[in-house]
Amino acid sequence: MLISIVCPFYNEESTVSSFLARLEPVLEATGERFEIVCVNDGSTDHTMERLLSEKETRRTIRIVELSRNFGKEAALTAGLDAAKGDVVIPIDADLQDPPELIPRFLERWRDGYEVVLGRRADRSTDGALKRITAQLYYRVHNAISDLEIPRNVGDFRLMDRRVVDALRSLPEHRRFMKGLFAWVGFRTATVEYDRGPRVAGASKFGGWRLWNFALEGITAFSTVPLRIWLYLGFFVSLLAFGYAAFIVARTLIFGVDLPGYASLLTVVLMFGGLQMMGLGILGEYLGRIHIETKQRPVYIIRRVHD
Ligand code: UDP
Ligand code: MG
Repeated sequence: MLISIVCPFYNEESTVSSFLARLEPVLEATGERFEIVCVNDGSTDHTMERLLSEKETRRTIRIVELSRNFGKEAALTAGLDAAKGDVVIPIDADLQDPPELIPRFLERWRDGYEVVLGRRADRSTDGALKRITAQLYYRVHNAISDLEIPRNVGDFRLMDRRVVDALRSLPEHRRFMKGLFAWVGFRTATVEYDRGPRVAGASKFGGWRLWNFALEGITAFSTVPLRIWLYLGFFVSLLAFGYAAFIVARTLIFGVDLPGYASLLTVVLMFGGLQMMGLGILGEYLGRIHIETKQRPVYIIRRVHD
C-alpha cells in the first residue's frame, strides 16, 4: 500500500521546509509507504531550489517541474497524473490543510469509503467578504447546476486509486477540480477540521482571480445562464405585446398625442443593455468552447525529478 501526497507549489519558498517538516512525521507515523509529489507550478522565486535541497535529505520526495505557471487546477492535475499511490491526497503547501488529519482520512478509507473530504468546520480565519461571497457562490452554483458541490470543502481530501483513475479519464482541458471531484461521485465520507491561516507567504487568489474561478465553475457545470435568455426574451415579448394592445386601444379611444420620449429612451437603453448581457454570456461559453477545441495539454512538464 502506497500513499501519494500531491502538493502544488507556486512561489512558496517560505513554506517549503516547514511544510515538509510537519508533513513527513505524520506520514511516517502511519507505518505505510508514501511518496510526496511536489508540483512546482512555474515558481519565480527560490521554491525549486528549496525543493531540490529538501530532496537531498528526504528520499520520499518526487518533484514535477512545470514549464511555467499553469494555475492551481493544472498543477493539481499534473500531480494526480504523476501520483502512483493506492490513495492520493492533495494538500496545499501553506499548511492551511493540517497534515495531522491524514490518519483520520486513512481510517475512513479503511472503513470502505473511496473519497474522504476535509470540511472546514468554520470560516473564521477568512475575512467577512470572503465568507459572504463563498456562501453566495455555493448557493448560486448548487441552485443552477445539476451537480451539488459540497460546501466548505476544498481540494484537501483522500481519494482511492479508482477515483483518481476516473478523474484522469475526464477529457476536458479546463479543469475546475472542485466540480470534477464532485462529478465522479463514489462513496464519500467527511471529516471536519479547523482551517488555520497561512504559515508564511501570501495567498495567490485575489478577488479578480476568485471571480474568474467562480465563472469557470458555473460555466463548466451549468447551462442555466444560457437558457435564462429564452425565458427573459419570452417574458419581455409578452409584456411588449400587452403594451402594444394597450396603446392601440388607447389611440382608438383617445386619439394621438406624442409625449413619452424619455420613457422610450429608457426602454431602448434597458433592452440594449439586456441584449449585450445575453451576448456576453453567449461569448463566455463560446470562448470556453474555443479554448477547449484547441485540445492543448493541461500542463507542460519541464522535468520530473524522481
Ligand atoms: N498554487 C499553485 N498555482 C497557482 C496558485 C496557487 O500551485 O497558480 C498553489 C499554492 O502554492 C498553494 C495552493 O495552490 O499550495 C493554494 O494557494 P493559496 O494558499 O494561495 O490559496 P488560498 O488558500 O488563499 O485559497
Ligand atoms: Mg492557502
